[in-house]
Amino acid sequence: MDFSNAAVLVLIGLVVLRGILIGVGAALILRAVPECPACFAPATFLLQRRWLRRLLPMVEWRFCPQCGWQGPSKRQPGDASVPRPVSKPEAQPFEEPGGPRY
Ligand SMILES: [Zn+2]
Repeated sequence: MDFSNAAVLVLIGLVVLRGILIGVGAALILRAVPECPACFAPATFLLQRRWLRRLLPMVEWRFCPQCGWQGPSKRQPGDASVPRPVSKPEAQPFEEPGGPRY
């Protein structure tokens, strides 16, 4: 391995380390937002962001209907607004009363 390859690996490592440090810092300062931080409205609503749930399951996106604020929030474990997965009901075959007609 020559010097240029080692330099590239060090630079890539520094970029990855910076990403990890930014993620840890953001996770430490992110807090739960049960009320709006802008207008102190008593309730904010959960917005569904599939990409966010898949990428960061501990983070949710909240919306304030009074002032329009939107922002990330730390998910609360007992939050009632967290949607639970709903299983689809199995399709029931359609049966005509009196049996099938051919
Ligand atoms: Zn608000």
